[in-house]
Amino acid sequence: MTFDLARVTRENILNLSPYSTARSEFAGTAEVFLDANENAFGSPVGGGFNRYPDPLQTELKRRIAPIKGVDASQIFVGNGSDEAIDLMYRIFCEPGRDEVIICPPTYGMYRVSADINNVAVREIRLADNFQLDDSAVVSGICETTRLIFVCSPNNPTGNLMRRESIIEIAEKFNGIVVVDEAYIDFASERSMTTELNSLPNLVILQTFSKAWGMAGIRVGLAFASAEIIGLMNRVKPPYNVSSFAQLAIIDAINNTNIVNGWIASTLEQRAALSKSLASFDFVEKIYASEANFVLARVKDADAIYRFLVDAKIIVRDRSKVILCDGCLRITVGTPGENSQLISSLENFGITGD
Ligand SMILES: *Cc1c(COP(=O)(O)O)cnc(C)c1O
Repeated sequence: MTFDLARVTRENILNLSPYSTARSEFAGTAEVFLDANENAFGSPVGGGFNRYPDPLQTELKRRIAPIKGVDASQIFVGNGSDEAIDLMYRIFCEPGRDEVIICPPTYGMYRVSADINNVAVREIRLADNFQLDDSAVVSGICETTRLIFVCSPNNPTGNLMRRESIIEIAEKFNGIVVVDEAYIDFASERSMTTELNSLPNLVILQTFSKAWGMAGIRVGLAFASAEIIGLMNRVKPPYNVSSFAQLAIIDAINNTNIVNGWIASTLEQRAALSKSLASFDFVEKIYASEANFVLARVKDADAIYRFLVDAKIIVRDRSKVILCDGCLRITVGTPGENSQLISSLENFGITGD
């Protein structure tokens, strides 16, 4: 199927004349900038924060491109991945008319964003092994389907989706396939970014919030064709990523070795934690994880959750989520935090709870 980007883009977006910032109208070198109504005296905290940030995050993208093996023109930088998710709706889905496909159990924001944008959601649930039901997804596509969200590694199940399934769905769909790779740094497989040049309808989301340890800074990434990135840049708020955030992420990239060390420790801890958890008789199953959390199916999720809250340890109760009956999602912590969790659980059922 030949993919026609203009055909799946909302007409008002195709016709949009985007806001032109002072910084985009004059981006050359000059000495005196009296074009943006900034405070010319300075910022009270220094740091050059009196000036508006680079709306296209040029330096940051120049640093990200070689790490991710993509061209800078294939990168969108947003205020968290959540901004990129919302942009997908605003660019491709006509409210009250178009629809999207999501594959539960999965990340909640895809539906929240759909509801905010008044876009219908078709749910094609995962198979019992948490893999995509490819043929059901493909038969769920209709004339007005604009987006298919795939989360890989998936939250909350922790597994990677089969690469061939994602490729097959993208090849059969004349809309956008969004692959959310928030946890890819913990996974045993490489990113889908290698498919970008052969799949013009692929959008890959990544984030600095998880492995990179920068959740509070709010920076997410999207990788796609330069044409799709161009649409995202037209629709985003002009100054969507602050200069503080851009500088902080460049600093993080300068410390990639620290991050890589933490990823290695997280993988070790994930294995150790999974093993310890599996030894409890109230644990029925620990699902294999490609992320920085494990999904545990337990005998009495509610009681264990409350027992842990009393011990001042918070995990995520996913027991009411489809296909996740009785499941708790547990983030891999530091070695100390993980042993605290295990020691607490050793007392579960003994202290009369
Ligand atoms: C945590 C998470 C994100 C990250 O969102 P940010 O807005 O970048 O912090 C995205 N997708 C999934 C599936 C997540 O679990």
